[in-house]
Amino acid sequence: MMNRSTYLITGANRGIGLEFARQLSARGDRVIATARSPKKAKELGKLDVRVETLDVSDGESVASLARALSGERIDVLIHNAAIGSAGPGIDRIHPDAVEQDFRVNALGPLRVTQALLPCLRAGRRKTIVAITSGLGSISGNNGGGWTAYRISKAALNQLVRSMAADLSAEKFTCIAISPGWVRTDMGGSGAPLSAEESVRSMLRVIDRLRPSDSSRFFDRGGKEVPW
Ligand code: NDP
Repeated sequence: MMNRSTYLITGANRGIGLEFARQLSARGDRVIATARSPKKAKELGKLDVRVETLDVSDGESVASLARALSGERIDVLIHNAAIGSAGPGIDRIHPDAVEQDFRVNALGPLRVTQALLPCLRAGRRKTIVAITSGLGSISGNNGGGWTAYRISKAALNQLVRSMAADLSAEKFTCIAISPGWVRTDMGGSGAPLSAEESVRSMLRVIDRLRPSDSSRFFDRGGKEVPW
């Protein structure tokens, strides 16, 4: 394949991350698929991908990945790993629960981006994709619920804007994209979309990204979502 790119995906052992690894490897791209416990990642182990260990909330784990990838290039970084659940409402939510979601969903992508910047700078596409959620949209929050998750994804969205601004001189493309409501462990069995459909449509958007798209928030069909 002429334009083979290298993608690094976090949380690639199940759900949407696994499906990214499957579709990208199937079409011939190079995939560095990361998982907290590669030995347990049986499905991932069947794919033609390189598997590396990564817990995005653990600074030492992130540093160790950066050492393993030192001197290599990454074209597209996909921040996919996240935790989240509906949780109790604002009257009963425990601040520790908010901190936990924040640590994984917002600080995780910050740590991983920082650690992998040398690899991204060496890349040809300099693209950072944050898998966010419609629940992270501040202007879209009229329904409440999912408090910890919403706060963490709103912070992730803000991180995307900051990365886009700070890396614009280097022609990076940094975007947020929401996958839709997808049948995974997080999305549950009642969700309308399969991971296959969601990832196929997100890849159509990701494939067409240019630096002028940086700092935008898209839905899986490429329509802009209000922050
Ligand atoms: P899943 O719960 O199915 O998978 C989550 C993935 O994240 C797993 O691979 C999990 O690994 C990994 N993960 C969790 N914590 C960490 C950590 N500290 N370090 C590294 N990896 C971690 O979720 P989905 O596939 O549904 O979600 C993927 C993305 O899409 C997330 O960002 C989510 O917020 C977003 N999203 C999903 C929606 C849906 O409907 N499914 C809707 C909107 C957004 P492990 O197996 O080790 O726990």
